[in-house]
Amino acid sequence: MKRRYDLHTHTLYSDGTLTPGELVRRAMDRRVDVLALTDHDVTDGIAQAQQAAAQTGMTLVPGVEVSATWAGRTVHIVGLHIDPANAVLQAGLAGLRTHRAARAQEIGRRLEKNGIAGAYQGASALAQGPILSRTHFARFLVDAGHASDTGKAFKKFLSAGAPGAVPSRWAPLDTAIAWIRAAGGQPVLAHPGRYQLGSGKLRRLLGEFKAGGGEAIEVLSGSQTLDLGQRLVRLAQEFDLLASVGSDYHGPEKPWVELGRLPALPAGCTPVWHSW
Ligand code: AMP
Ligand code: MN
Ligand code: MN
Ligand code: MN
Repeated sequence: MKRRYDLHTHTLYSDGTLTPGELVRRAMDRRVDVLALTDHDVTDGIAQAQQAAAQTGMTLVPGVEVSATWAGRTVHIVGLHIDPANAVLQAGLAGLRTHRAARAQEIGRRLEKNGIAGAYQGASALAQGPILSRTHFARFLVDAGHASDTGKAFKKFLSAGAPGAVPSRWAPLDTAIAWIRAAGGQPVLAHPGRYQLGSGKLRRLLGEFKAGGGEAIEVLSGSQTLDLGQRLVRLAQEFDLLASVGSDYHGPEKPWVELGRLPALPAGCTPVWHSW
């Protein structure tokens, strides 16, 4: 039997809604064999997830999703099999969380100026872990009746050009990769289809990612359309990168893809787990 991999998921330690224990049990129910927990810029949920997984037959891969900036855009680098105790990685993540906290206050101020009261407090009240994400603002905006769903809240208030948009300066791409490698992890470019890059720019990103020590790309992701798969297989081959698969699950609410639901990797790619 082929093993089922889901190598990109979140808990309430970042912007997901389940506890690590709930995530692991749900993944078990969905017959996931190997699950990676990859919260944004924080590793606090890993120990609990490992404890929960130890009571099951499932393998828990310690991971993280690092916020990075490349060519003025935000890109996400997943680290798989990281050592959460690594000091270089933790110092880097702490810096990102400091930037996040200041950004969240600025998002609150800008929304306030646009007639939306109490957004910073409201989003903070929804965050149950150490980071404040735009997702928490989106949930607040829906709860407060400013948007009918989180997708619309992003579009109307939080995306580039919207009133609550605040430019972010995350880790430079090569720095994010270096932190993950310092912690013994494999850097994986998350959802390459989500950055809305033309073919030339995407190639440049893949080239710089590989040159910086990147090892794999998400060929299949719940955060990008599945029909990109074949194109990403060819790009993985061209840039000598391994292939990963992850739902990017944040919780049972819309719009997230269910755990373990993505198809198997297409033929022609070497899975990121081939040497595990
Ligand atoms: P942040 O890292 O705080 O900028 O928040 C980014 C997170 O917002 C992503 O990881 C997604 O979980 C979520 N997100 C981004 N765009 C959307 C969208 N259009 N609809 C719903 N969630 C989104
Ligand atoms: Mn997220
Ligand atoms: Mn992401
Ligand atoms: Mn993610």
